[in-house]
Amino acid sequence: MKPIKPIFDEITKQLAAVNDTIQIIAVTKQVDVERTKEAIQAGVIHLGENRPEGLSKKLEAIDENVSWHYIGNLQTRKVKDVINEIDYLHSLDRLSLAKEIQKRATRPINCFVQVNVSGEESKSGVEPEDTLDFIQSLEAYNNIRVVGLMTMAPNTTDESVIRKAFKGLKSLQLQVSEKNWAHAPCTECSMGMSNDYLIAAQEGASFVRIGTALVGAESEAG
Ligand SMILES: *Cc1c(COP(=O)(O)O)cnc(C)c1O
Repeated sequence: MKPIKPIFDEITKQLAAVNDTIQIIAVTKQVDVERTKEAIQAGVIHLGENRPEGLSKKLEAIDENVSWHYIGNLQTRKVKDVINEIDYLHSLDRLSLAKEIQKRATRPINCFVQVNVSGEESKSGVEPEDTLDFIQSLEAYNNIRVVGLMTMAPNTTDESVIRKAFKGLKSLQLQVSEKNWAHAPCTECSMGMSNDYLIAAQEGASFVRIGTALVGAESEAG
């Protein structure tokens, strides 16, 4: 696999040309502990995992002071294994999940509410038109702090469609933050992956989640 450092430096430079406050989350779900450590050596400080097993394996092996992001769909019965181990949850998408987090968390958890901006059936997330009501209802859970919104771009190579989705998320995020809800500062947008992180940056992402383009995928090892 290619060394991570030059790739990380290049992506950092590309993003900084748009906005130098954007944070890169290295999505390490497809790579092993060694490769994850190489990413940290290269300067990565945010790591993203999408399975409880993958997360605990990495947590056991890595003592560096990094931030852990859980980016995948989280099953309610897995909340207890994950929620107190992470710094950010990117996939809060239902009240049943909020209730379980409230019950299991030992401190307020930084959460992104996942929004299905593209409206694709296969994607999880709250519908855009339900987002304000959903977030307002989270006020009842003092272990949940809504730091921002998260979305996955639609499955298309049409840049204008992707851009529109990111614009939609940004606009919703501003609507929520303008409410000045104490439990939901909602200042952040988590959007953009390997194929579309620059578009996301241009549309106001504060966290991009990059896996394949940064650390690679184990299937292509060699
Ligand atoms: C896997 C994954 C990513 C990273 O995807 P790449 O295309 O490999 O960059 C980002 N966000 C989520 C939610 C993911 O599941």
